[in-house]
Parts: sequence; structure tokens; C-alpha cells
Amino acid sequence: MDHADVLRQAAAAGVKLVSLYYCDNNGVIRGKTTHVSGLEQRLRSGIGLTVAMQAMSSMDELQVVEGMGPVGEVRLAPDPATFEVLPYAPARALMLTDLITVDRRPWGACPRDFLKRMLARAEALGLTFQAVMEPEWFLATKHGDRFAPLDESLDNSSIGSTFALDVIDDVVEALEAQGLRVEQYYPELGHGQQELSIRHAAALRAADNHLIYRETVRNVAWKHGLYASFAPKPFPDQAGNGCHIHLSAWNADGTANLFYDPADRQNLSALAYQFIGGVMAHLPALIALTCPSMNSYRRLSPGSWSTAYTCYGPDNREAALRMPSLFWGAEMASTNLEFRPVDSSANPYIALGGIIAAGLDGVERGLRPSGGQWIDVDPAHVPPEELERRGIQRLPQTLQESTQLLRADTMLTDALGPQLTTSYLAVKQADWDLFSQHDAEFEIRHHFYKY
Ligand code: GLU
Ligand code: MG
Repeated sequence: MDHADVLRQAAAAGVKLVSLYYCDNNGVIRGKTTHVSGLEQRLRSGIGLTVAMQAMSSMDELQVVEGMGPVGEVRLAPDPATFEVLPYAPARALMLTDLITVDRRPWGACPRDFLKRMLARAEALGLTFQAVMEPEWFLATKHGDRFAPLDESLDNSSIGSTFALDVIDDVVEALEAQGLRVEQYYPELGHGQQELSIRHAAALRAADNHLIYRETVRNVAWKHGLYASFAPKPFPDQAGNGCHIHLSAWNADGTANLFYDPADRQNLSALAYQFIGGVMAHLPALIALTCPSMNSYRRLSPGSWSTAYTCYGPDNREAALRMPSLFWGAEMASTNLEFRPVDSSANPYIALGGIIAAGLDGVERGLRPSGGQWIDVDPAHVPPEELERRGIQRLPQTLQESTQLLRADTMLTDALGPQLTTSYLAVKQADWDLFSQHDAEFEIRHHFYKY
């Protein structure tokens, strides 16, 4: 897709408004909208945005970050490859953007550029990544100022499917119309909780797809008079919403999955083990990028399949990294690692970029994961002394704990770069300062409908 294709498609579909979106340091999707008459100009020069937006907290309180005050702007530069006419609002389209400086360079606080930089680092090692985010979400109704789950259905139950039927059918149609291929659907464990997975894609596209997915689900649900919540723990007495990330490393032309080795007892290559070694080495700090909201830590607890320990294991849904069993007849293609301590309050570019940075560090340094952290049982059922002996620890239990670890992890902060690190940590600190002074109800109210 080039600029001419975008203009042609917009005209053919009768689009009037085109939203240029980005995802901020809080995981919030924001942006500005142009009338189609200005689209040609916007494709060339973007839309101006104050530099302050990346220092804006999740409660819209501007934090003090050098160079991100009232003076100066960046541009929302739309990527033509992301143009989508919105099936649920056909007079509108969206495009996802990079934040670039007015002298046309990538801005140091642009999350999408961070992921691109990590993919370039992978490419230098001859690697390309396929990935997918696997979001869970609740359908809810609102009564006064309180939300309630759509139904009381059981995990995988056909009755849950009945309640959500019309919404799910419309979501599927809308995702397909935007080129996202649907893989599986089922009513999840929580009352009103849904899981509808889509097909993997090249890593940048996978992160873009997650934003398109969130927009689609929220808007389609809204048209049905329902609220869709991607918050990590929207109902304290129900299952949490994970957004597990599956990924695999391929050769440059995408013909061979380099994580696959049939000679290994787990079908994993030496490269895959190095990648695991890197992720495990940085895992506690990485949590600040993948479980980045106050509400994330209400989900991240033992016994809830969200994972709560630094361990990895085969088909282990209580391990931070699961090595999923392979599809019969498609062993090479289906080899992947599933990173589980991640939710949709994460910025998908930052979360995926962070995981890839950690994994590549393992590859570059030839790390091997510790044998003690390999586990094929629920770590919560292992006696504490054995966990300690095996080097298996609890993941950070608060946003403050994880952000302190991130601050100290120079590999991750160097990868993020100074502007992204500083602005990211500033808005996380603001969240901690505010929400740690309030109760669970306040926290949930301000996370329920933010993602
Ligand atoms: N809802 C769980 C989570 O918070 C995941 C359940 C599952 O394994 O699909 O991650
Ligand atoms: Mg699930």
C-alpha cells in the first residue's frame, strides 16, 4: 500500500474521517482524526501532536519529563500499510502511526519505533519474528456507575456462546474485513469472559493487529449496547484477562522456523533455548513492560493461570514461558514460545519489543536457561525450599517493584533508549503514587474501560 492506494481505497469506500492512532506509554490508544479532504496532506506530513502526550499519565495528569512539556511537537506519521476502513463504521477509517520529529526522524519516545529497532537488531542476527497477542476480554453491562458481567456462563460452555452470539459474529466479520484471520473462539472461565484468537503475523503487524483488535471489539460491543473490558482484572472475583504473546524466530525469508529442532526432546533448537535464557534472565524487570498497570498485579497471582513465578515448562500454564505442544503434521510451523505474564494494559509495541530485546540478549550472549527453572508441575504446589533451591521466585507483586527492577536493568533501558525509558517510568510512577493511595474499587473503576 502506498499513499495513492490509501487515497483510492478511502474514496472508493466513501470514507469521510480517518483516525491516526498511536498507543501511549499507558497502553491507551489515542490519536487525532482528519477529514478525508486533508488526507493527502496528512499522509505526507502527518498530524502534529504535543510532545507532552508521552508524559501524560493514565489519568491525564502531565508528569515532569525533560523535553515533554508545553513546548514542541512531534508528528503522527501514518503507516500506509495499516489503513483500514472500519467495518463497524464504514464512513471512517483508521491508520496506525509512528511518532516522528518535525525534522522527520524517529522520536526517541515512540513505542512503535522501539519495536522496529528491536526487529532490526534481530534482522542483523538473521532473524525475523512471527508473533500474535491472544487477548481475553469481558463483555459487560452497565447499571448506574457499576459494571456487571454479561452472563454467568461456565468455562468453554455452549451457553456462554449463546449469550455472546451476535456480538461475536459481528466481531468475527469485522476482524475478517480488516484482514485479521480468526482462529478459535470460546467463552472463557470468567462470567461474560471471551477469548477469540487470531492468526500470527510478522511481529510489527502482530502489535498493530492487537490495536485493531481492541478497537474492533470495543466498538462492536458498544453497538450492541455492551462494554468490552480488556483490563487485566476487571472483576476482582472473576478470572483475569491475559494477553499471552506467542512468538517464534524464522530465517530471513520466512521459510524455516529457527526455534524448531526435532532432535531435541522438546523440539526446541539451541537458539530457542538461548532466547528462553535471555527472557528468564530479564523476566522480573520485563514485567514492568508487560504487566504495566496497577490492575495488572491483581491478575498476576498464583493459581490463576496468569503465572506468578520465574519458570518455564512444557504446556505449563502456570509457567511464565510455556512451550506449547506441537500440531500434528505441522510441527515446524507450530513451534513457538508463549509468554504468559502479559495483559492488554501493556502497550503491544513495548511489550513485544521488550520480550524480543530480552530474548536477543540471550542469543547474543549465548545464554542457556537454568535447568532448575524448568518445571512440569504447578509451582504453587512445590514447597518453598525447593523453589528456592531451583531458583524459582515470585514475579514482582506490585508496579513499584517491577518498575524498580526495570530501572536497574540497563540492557532493557538501553534498548528502550533514554526518552522512552524516562517518560515510561514517569507515568508508571504517577500511577503508583495515585493508585497505591486508593482502594480496589477506585483502581478497577479507572482501569475497566481504558483499554
Ligand atoms: N485468564 C488467564 C490469564 O489471566 C489465562 C487462562 C488461559 O490459560 O487461557 O492469563
Ligand atoms: Mg484463555
